[in-house]
Amino acid sequence: MHLTEGTSDIQISHLHWDHIGDPSLFPNAEIILGEETQTMLANRVYPANPEGTITELPKANKCTFVSFDDPSESSKRFKIISPLGTFARAVDLFGDGSVYLVDTPGHCPGHMSCIARIAEGTFVFLAGDLCHLREAYDPGTRLINRKMYEDIETARDTVRRLAALNREVASMVVILAHEVDRLQEGMPLFPKDIREWAIEMVEKRKK
Ligand SMILES: [Zn+2]
Repeated sequence: MHLTEGTSDIQISHLHWDHIGDPSLFPNAEIILGEETQTMLANRVYPANPEGTITELPKANKCTFVSFDDPSESSKRFKIISPLGTFARAVDLFGDGSVYLVDTPGHCPGHMSCIARIAEGTFVFLAGDLCHLREAYDPGTRLINRKMYEDIETARDTVRRLAALNREVASMVVILAHEVDRLQEGMPLFPKDIREWAIEMVEKRKK
């Protein structure tokens, strides 16, 4: 889950319980999800589906689904930026280049990542569960584990795109949701500000 400072948006990378937190704490926030997430909401939500593993989203929150292909429907307010770097599909969330939502499929339907500009020319790539270990994208030698991905071939393609972007863009820090290495590197956790730390990490990368 990514809360965007100064706005009422919550962007959720995907619907797994360890990524949605408690949106009911932000009843006025608009929840932004990938378009294909709708299939999970239709079929896998408990208690409508007693076998469902997805928690119902609070009814108070407005949900908006990002369509990467068709800006005329639910996501008409997002500017399509496709391709963005090595990724085929993305949107500019506010139309000002500060936050991009990137289609990063494979882990589960509708999985999205987020690129935030934290300073002039400096970015963080909040990957969610695009992959789960740093070695998968840096240096990119480790194959991802089939068990963690609903569509393994698509996930492998997505990880290759991340590895390529990471090689190309030195002024970017990738953060996987479960990347323990970042904690060992002193990454501040919410609600602390990540920007100063991320700029330091970029400076290190450029050396
Ligand atoms: Zn997940």
